Order: sequence, then structure tokens, then C-alpha cells
Amino acid sequence: MSFESLNLNPTIVQAITAAGYTEPTAVQAQAIPDAIAGHDLMVSAPTGTGKTAAFVLPALQRLGTAPAKHGRGPRVLVLTPTRELALQVTNAVSKYSRGMRHVRTGTVLGGMPYPKQRKLLDSPLDILVATPGRLIDFMEQGKVDFSRLELLVLDEADRMLDMGFIKPVETIAAATPTTRQTMLFSATLDGGIAQLGKRLLRNPKLIEVAAPRARHENIEQRLHYVDDGSHKGRLLDHFLRDVALDQAIVFTATKRGADRLASKLYEDGHAAAALHGDMNQSQRNRTLAKMRSGNVRVLVATDVAARGIDVPSISHVINYDLPKAAEDYVHRIGRTGRAGINGIAISFAAPDDGWQVRQIERYTGHAIVAHVVEGMEPKVPQRSSHKPGPRQGKGGKSGGYAGRSAGAGRAAPGSAGRWGKPAGGPAASRGKPERSYSSFRGR
Ligand code: ADP
Ligand code: MG
Repeated sequence: MSFESLNLNPTIVQAITAAGYTEPTAVQAQAIPDAIAGHDLMVSAPTGTGKTAAFVLPALQRLGTAPAKHGRGPRVLVLTPTRELALQVTNAVSKYSRGMRHVRTGTVLGGMPYPKQRKLLDSPLDILVATPGRLIDFMEQGKVDFSRLELLVLDEADRMLDMGFIKPVETIAAATPTTRQTMLFSATLDGGIAQLGKRLLRNPKLIEVAAPRARHENIEQRLHYVDDGSHKGRLLDHFLRDVALDQAIVFTATKRGADRLASKLYEDGHAAAALHGDMNQSQRNRTLAKMRSGNVRVLVATDVAARGIDVPSISHVINYDLPKAAEDYVHRIGRTGRAGINGIAISFAAPDDGWQVRQIERYTGHAIVAHVVEGMEPKVPQRSSHKPGPRQGKGGKSGGYAGRSAGAGRAAPGSAGRWGKPAGGPAASRGKPERSYSSFRGR
């Protein structure tokens, strides 16, 4: 999808290209054509998804046409709940209007001296960005001319509602021509937003862009405790021989380790290759091309080298060594489960890696369920949910896994939204039988 295909004029496309945008975000792709067509819009999209451009670009496009009425008042009014936001919108206008004949933009904000703003309202304007309180002050003084207003935008309507600006917003809207186009932007359409929209918009088109799907929901995360290097090697070989494994990335802690493991796997008959930062770009590209074509089935990689790899047929990610940072864990497992296909992420943990595992769980808000492979169980009994039959009530209060697991869920309410719900998500439900296993590393 390109900006050109949204019916934006070339000058505007040029400015956004210069701003470094290569393609429209989802909310921009959906809102801009309807906005240009003149529809009223009620738009909800999460924070940071590019809503500003979704209304500024159509507003600029409108300014490229002759005004319906003569006069000096603004043709576009953007209401924002805060000063900071008003200034952001103003900056966006100047950024996106680069190349257009001068767009006269003014800002009217609370907490700033009146005289300069009064003077601004006396001069001809194209776009006025304002916070509601101060604008009402000026309206009461008869300083605002809305006679040529064509477009009213309410930005962050949910926050305006929270801040008690609904009355002022309605007063302002009532002072503008009824022929205007109105667009409401908000992170949510809950509560009074939809009602406000009904009062201020005419036959609005509803555009709802969902929050990015809780990530990694389609990735099953498993933990395997390992005694030592040789145990790890046998388990890895076992997983790589699984026919359900399409292609895998195996992560090692070091470049040297990646080379060594890749050679060993290759000698053992696996179509394996290494990928790490000591390889030059053309070597890396060649290896990745082999992965894409299926000539390499197992890629042994380090964190940095594997960032951003997008090969949908990667069915498994195997953490041969655990990542140093929990954040890297998320990047690693995200190499599988691409394009909506299910993925499996297997992590090997040494007996004293418990702390690292808990860091990861706290970060993701998910308990990683421990599994064992029959005949390859670790010598030291570890927490496990793979074997059925909960061992209820064995020293559960002694700070065993049960408590930690619940803690992991509780400790990460923030991450919960990003990575999925700790309660009720698939990992959490898989985690349930595990809670009864109270011995973590036999303690
Ligand atoms: P929202 O209002 O939805 O919270 P913003 O409009 O403030 O989001 O945009 C968030 C960030 O995304 C800004 O830094 C903006 O420059 C950037 N941005 C907006 N649209 C695009 C795009 N099409 N491509 C790349 N970056 C974009
Ligand atoms: Mg915004």
C-alpha cells in the first residue's frame, strides 16, 4: 500500500516521503480516503499508530482546493485536550505541508499570554489548533470567526472526555457551520465517546483499528531442563529429527558457539548452517537465501544476526543457550509463528538458570511450562507439567514454582497487554497443572 493510492496529491506525498514514511499505517490507510471523500469519521486506533497524519493529510489536501467562502477565519479546526498535543499537531502540520504554498497555522493554548494569540486570531488563518478552554475564552470575546470553517477534528476525544472538556467541545462545535465535516479520533470508543460522536457527527463512518494482536499467542513455549552439554545435545538432536519440525532457528550465546554447533549438526547429518555477526553481509545473505529456499533446515544463530528474520516456514525456535536479556527472548521466539502459523519455542535451561527463566516469565507475563522427553529426563527432578498427575500439596508454600508462577503473572500487568493475558491465555491455562508442582530445582 502506498500513499499515492490514498488519493493524496503528489506534493503531500513528497513531504511525507521526505519525513521518512514509506507506507501508510493501518489507520491512515483506512481513514484518509474516506476523509478526502468528505465523510464524517469516528476513528479509534491505539496510541502511536499515526492518527495525527490520518487527519492532517486530508486537512492539507482540502487546503489545496479553493475555499467555499471568502474570509479570514480558519478552514480547519483541530481541538486537542492538552498543550503538548496541540504543539505536536502544529509541528505535524508544518512537517507535512512542506512544499505546499504557505499554510497559515495558528495555535491557541491555555497557560500562554493572551495578546499574541489574540493577534493571531485577527490575522488570516488556514488551520487553527486549540485547546477547548482557551478557545472558548476567545469565542466569548468575539475574537473567533468560524464562518468559513470546513473541517472540525477532535483529537484524543477519550482524553477530552476524561478531562471534562465535553461541554466546551460541544459549545465550540455548535458555533461552527453545520455544513462542516467532522472527524473524531480516539484510542477507544468506549464510554461517552460514541455518544459524543453521535451528537457531533453526521452519518459517520466507523473505523476501528484493533490493538496489535497480543503477540505470541500462536507460539507454544516450552522449557526443558538439561543436566549438561551432552544432555542438551541429545535433546536437540531429538527435536531436530522430529518430522513436525519444518525449519528451525537454534540460538547460541556466542558466535563461536554458533559455528561449533552448526558444524556438529552438519556432521550429524542435519542441513545446518551458522548465521552470526562475524560473517560478512554477502555470506549472511547467502545463508538466509538457503534458509528461504529450504536448503538449510536448521539455522544456528546469535541474537543480533537473527533480528528481523522473517521466514514463515520456521516452525521451531530453540534456545540452545538462554538469552542474556528477557527482551531478546521475545525477539527470538518471534522468529516463529509468523504469518499466523503456529510455532513452537523450546528453551533449554541448566539447573542454575532458574533465575533467568523467571526474568523472562516476569517480562512476558507468561509462565513457560516445563516439559520432559521420555527417556531423556533430567537427572535432577525439575518443575514439570509434561507428565500428568499433579503432586498436590507438597511444600507449596516454600517459595516453589507455584508462587513464582503466579507472581510472574501478577508482576507484569503492563506486559500483559502487549504479550497476552497472563490469566486465561493459552500459556496460563497450560500452566495450571504445573502450579501443583511445588519443587523448583528440588528446593
Ligand atoms: P497517534 O496519534 O496515533 O498516537 P502519532 O500520530 O503521534 O500517533 O504517530 C506516532 C509516530 O508515528 C510519530 O512519530 C509519527 O511521526 C510516526 N508515523 C506516523 N505515520 C507514519 C508512517 N506512515 N510511517 C512511519 N511513521 C509514521
Ligand atoms: Mg495522537
